[in-house]
Amino acid sequence: MDTGGNSLPSGADGVKRKVCYFYDPEVGNYYYGQGHPMKPHRIRMTHALLAHYGLLQHMQVHKPFPARDKDLCRFHADDYVNFLRSITPETQQDLLRQLKRFNVGEDCPVFDGLYSFCQTYAGGSVGGAVKLNHGHDIAINWAGGLHHAKKCEASGFCYVNDIVLAILELLKQHERVLYVDIDIHHGDGVEEAFYTTDRVMTVSFHKFGDYFPGTGDIDDIGYGKGKYYSLNVPLDDGIDDESYHFLFEPIMKKVMEVFKPGAVVLQCGADSLSGDRLGCFNLSIRGHAQCVKYMRSFNVPLLLLGGGGYTIRNVARCWCYETGVALGVEIEDRMPQHEYYEYFGPEYTLHVAPSNMENKNSQLSLENIKSKLLDYLCKLQHAPSVQFQERPPETELPEADEDQEDPDERYDPDSDMDIDDERKTLPSRVKRELVETEPKDQEIQKGSAENAKGYDTTGDDATFTKFFVNNQYFQALDVGSVSIDEPSVKTEQETMNKPTDQMQL
Ligand SMILES: [Zn+2]
Repeated sequence: MDTGGNSLPSGADGVKRKVCYFYDPEVGNYYYGQGHPMKPHRIRMTHALLAHYGLLQHMQVHKPFPARDKDLCRFHADDYVNFLRSITPETQQDLLRQLKRFNVGEDCPVFDGLYSFCQTYAGGSVGGAVKLNHGHDIAINWAGGLHHAKKCEASGFCYVNDIVLAILELLKQHERVLYVDIDIHHGDGVEEAFYTTDRVMTVSFHKFGDYFPGTGDIDDIGYGKGKYYSLNVPLDDGIDDESYHFLFEPIMKKVMEVFKPGAVVLQCGADSLSGDRLGCFNLSIRGHAQCVKYMRSFNVPLLLLGGGGYTIRNVARCWCYETGVALGVEIEDRMPQHEYYEYFGPEYTLHVAPSNMENKNSQLSLENIKSKLLDYLCKLQHAPSVQFQERPPETELPEADEDQEDPDERYDPDSDMDIDDERKTLPSRVKRELVETEPKDQEIQKGSAENAKGYDTTGDDATFTKFFVNNQYFQALDVGSVSIDEPSVKTEQETMNKPTDQMQL
């Protein structure tokens, strides 16, 4: 499957990029069920476009190695992973209690091959992270980006959180990892996982207000050591390219300046495009892809992932064009003939015009958002200093040979063991419980230790910090810390909005 990757000149900055791409030919066969908006077929359509535009020959193409149980358990609870592995459409009627407990059934249905699907999309993202750890500049997994999945709960069409797993892999090699999310929905699962650490900064641009998942208020900025390391950019209906980039570029420029990540993960959910079946933004494909172009311009190892996207012809258009951006190739608008050509009529072009819908984001609101977020970033004058304890051993793999065929070379069979052993020695591994006070209508109610009881965090590979706000528990991964010079972390109240019941990726 490997077609021999290479580097291409990237255009303006003239720097070459070594790009690898993960794709499993089976992925398009998974089917969430009749009428379900999430269609893995869109990944196969994207791949067909890449093939017919001649882009595959410029990248290393890999079939992902399926993520193993123990890979998934780096973030997810053992019992949740066991459940995903064992549930089938035939047995689900007997497991109603568990279905409810793990939020599986309706928006996140049980379907044939569910667990293999999870292993495939997570394997692509973790494999991409391993490639970046070993010298690739850009890794792409359009099947990944399922940002809503929680430690022990499916959510918003997502079952396992491949993004969290990929970031954990990157953290083996990099002190700091930046996560950027341009899906129309808040990247809540990733934010929660890293809410209390300064080693991962999350920045999510999303529709906010009466919209799934309900979190992502501008005032949610992280907690404890993670304070100011979660950023949320709440947007309203109809945002266009110009308004989006009025925020995206200055904010991301400042983030790159102050946080100085060793690697960047960009979730490219395409439900923020104009005309999406579930979305309400008005971005063009070029506007969406400008985010990729901009993040690429910093020349920091970059993992590009998919995510939402429900008007599937536009999803394929978008991710094909963005693959071109990753390679530094501008592809022509007229679409080549291919097996899904009929999906793209009547235009048969890559680009489609955005609509004339109203942009509800006023210039004043955009300016206020920008200045508030830049203020937060000013509190991080310096990147956290480099002293994370007992750095896990690097996964010493032979650098991928350009012609190498074996997709498994990404994995060092000893790697996980070593890392697990090493992590046990981290002082921060001690389980601790953190019961945050609960801000509610300006009235502070103490969360009690009793509230926290019964929340089982045992038996997992990872350790978690719990925090309790708005009558809800949240759990963040314990990934150590890189202490910051600034005494900016204080005991201020941070709030998180209560998620709503709507379900969309
Ligand atoms: Zn989404």
